Amino acid sequence: MNEVSPESQAARKPVAASLLEQSVLLPVYPHAPFEPVRGDGVWLETRDGRRLLDLYGGHAVALLGYGHPRLLAALAAQAETLFFQSNVVPLAVRAEAARRLLAFGPPGLARVFFVNSGAEANENALRLAFRATGRRRVVAVEGAFHGRTAAAAALTWGAARWYGFPRPPFDVAFVPRGDLAPLEAALAADGGAAALIVEPVQGQAGAYALGAEYLAAARTLTRAAGALLIFDEVQCGMGRSGEPFAAQLYGVTPDLLTVAKGLAGGFPAGAMLASAEAAAGLAEGDLGTTFGGGPLACALIEAVLDAIAEEGLLARARSLSRRFRATCVVGPVTAIQGEGLLLGLRTRRPAKEVHLELLARGIFTGTSADPHVVRLLPPLVLADEHVDILAAALAELAP
Ligand code: PLP
Repeated sequence: MNEVSPESQAARKPVAASLLEQSVLLPVYPHAPFEPVRGDGVWLETRDGRRLLDLYGGHAVALLGYGHPRLLAALAAQAETLFFQSNVVPLAVRAEAARRLLAFGPPGLARVFFVNSGAEANENALRLAFRATGRRRVVAVEGAFHGRTAAAAALTWGAARWYGFPRPPFDVAFVPRGDLAPLEAALAADGGAAALIVEPVQGQAGAYALGAEYLAAARTLTRAAGALLIFDEVQCGMGRSGEPFAAQLYGVTPDLLTVAKGLAGGFPAGAMLASAEAAAGLAEGDLGTTFGGGPLACALIEAVLDAIAEEGLLARARSLSRRFRATCVVGPVTAIQGEGLLLGLRTRRPAKEVHLELLARGIFTGTSADPHVVRLLPPLVLADEHVDILAAALAELAP
């Protein structure tokens, strides 16, 4: 058993809001031991008056941090103009958000379908893959997290514990990360798979980058097998990898790409990008959503894309990533994995301990499915000095 340090023990104490929530909400979330009441840039202010450096970024959602003037202005302007209309009517703001998202994405993706969440984006991508191929199986990668709906959770590694439905809606073969022979076999088995779905940088698993070589080979193998390639960039997309999408970072264009989380900087939004071939044959009524592509979400997607371009956030993500790697292998951290600003600090001691000790020092990080990885998903508006705060705190911790 590892000894639990007194500071991390203190940091576990539940706060009042947590006890309140427990009396009225389903008890499904383990809470962090603080209540944020305000956010400003990359800082959170807590109910008890502390300031926390947020390197978790609302689970990769707060792409531009808190209170970003572009987001606030876009939200106010769109809310005053037209608060909501569904897909029953055409909207210039929706068409423009889609056009710009395609221009931001890898070449070869030609159509967008807007939804509300990552799971919903993946669900629709799968539907397209089944329709396009007429096949009934999907291949996913061990360690993957694709969401909580019946189809997305069926593709999520280790979901059996919480899946909850009587059976998955289709067959799924999981293949080990990085190993091509089992992938080739799984794509070909039983008359062929409809798709391979893969997070180019696995998030929940602990920031595991699958790399250009594996993904390029996956592109070749899926094509040869007549299966579609789906990139789930819900967590690693929207500039987090240091390129618009990991697809561009690795130079591999999938048939379908899903994005959510930071897409609208914190306003609920998701999207599926599809190649013309993958989208061929779709007709009116084949897909649908009420809220997806609403004007507020679309205005905010444009604001996020503006900020990324005009504030140089891709270059910033790359340079901050280099700084984390150069300065944060100290104290309990033995190595750093991941891409851009989706990073995993590999820790000698249990990651949970390190996470709580950092929290006691005013730094909020994430954990992951890997018990020895502390996950960083900070806003892209982070600055060098914030990396230095983490490096200094880590250096004070026991190895
Ligand atoms: N895909 C990935 C890679 C994710 O990390 C997540 C959420 O963590 C999802 C899909 C599901 O997204 P959502 O919670 O918006 O449905």
